[in-house]
Amino acid sequence: MSTARQIPVAKPMLGEPEVDAARRVILSGWVTQGPEVAQFEKAFAAYVGAPFACAVSNCTTALHLALLAIGVREGDEVITVSHSFIATANAIRYCGATPVFVDIEAVGFNIDPDHVAEAITPRTRAILCVHQLGMPCNMGRIMQIARQHDLKVVEDAACATGSEMLWNGEWDRIGKPHADIACFSFHPRKVVTTGDGGMLTTSDPEYDQRFRLLRQHAMNVSDTVRHGSKQVIFESYDELGYNYRMTDLQAAIGRAQLERLPGIVAARRRLAALYTSLLAPINGLVPPVEPGWARSNWQSYCVTLPEHADQSAVMQALLDNGISTRRGVMNAHLEQAYAGRDTQRTAGWLTNSELAQSRTIMLPLFAQMREDDVHYVASELTRVLANLSTANKRSAVGG
Ligand SMILES: *Cc1c(COP(=O)(O)O)cnc(C)c1O
Repeated sequence: MSTARQIPVAKPMLGEPEVDAARRVILSGWVTQGPEVAQFEKAFAAYVGAPFACAVSNCTTALHLALLAIGVREGDEVITVSHSFIATANAIRYCGATPVFVDIEAVGFNIDPDHVAEAITPRTRAILCVHQLGMPCNMGRIMQIARQHDLKVVEDAACATGSEMLWNGEWDRIGKPHADIACFSFHPRKVVTTGDGGMLTTSDPEYDQRFRLLRQHAMNVSDTVRHGSKQVIFESYDELGYNYRMTDLQAAIGRAQLERLPGIVAARRRLAALYTSLLAPINGLVPPVEPGWARSNWQSYCVTLPEHADQSAVMQALLDNGISTRRGVMNAHLEQAYAGRDTQRTAGWLTNSELAQSRTIMLPLFAQMREDDVHYVASELTRVLANLSTANKRSAVGG
């Protein structure tokens, strides 16, 4: 069936300000990591309320540097979720360490702190928690467990730029940070984008120094310093480093995106609330839940389907009517890359993680989306589920 309406699942908000930003950098003649990156870092740190922010090439490399900085190495275990984009677990393996997968909570898609406590062994070095789909995870409980067991904590905040949580009675932005280090993504699928890009925030100046050294081949003088120097400088490389730099082109676009961020988050929150009210009457459908202590940026709006509804059938029926959706978040432990015995350890059953992958779908949500389109998606979903339900009843009678 063809239809005039075509609603994508997500859409970055880009326009003239980003074009102007890129133009400014191109004409400046300095396009790699330089003054724009420094300005973007400053603006991002101010926005989340962090003492330090360091820009890198993407969130995967940010996670790698964060884990290296807190001292994760071969033989260590890092407790995390399987139910995340695969980069979360991969970053642990880049350090030669083993991801230890624990289940998510029954409600929502975040790590279950009770399971974290149970998974700790003498080899545990750190916890890598995820603010999945932009919804803050229970940092209070996680930090309490980490302090009891003397563990470091890294926040995978890839999805959580602009999300907030109540912390000591105040609304804080994710990334202040509330653990040792927080890592963000600027992939086009997230709320703000630089094409690709990432950011690390921390309160610890030594960590920040490590990020800056390791992102640039562990070179002891940066390009900008050497470029501006009146004396000849020879650099040295005292350890193994990486090329994880963000370019000035990306950073300039990022600065324009940051200007838009408050508006983007407000729009997404308004549209998500509209979805929740429109979907409430559907029997058996569970809309996402925002705890009283959290304010999501709604990077994704993920609903749990009624038991009778087949995930791919629902997605196909919506697509036939011009509505793009995605299945729930993946599970790393179900992928071939994690099939080997030495690639991971699973602590307990991952029942909720697997259910969340197979029983949920993400509905279209982006800042420019019209309210009218939210109404359309909600009414189509209502109709599709009612049809499936009737078809099921008919086949039950017939069989
Ligand atoms: C997107 C994402 C990443 C990876 O981010 P990149 O910037 O694409 O490397 C990591 N973790 C989570 C939870 C993500 O959603």
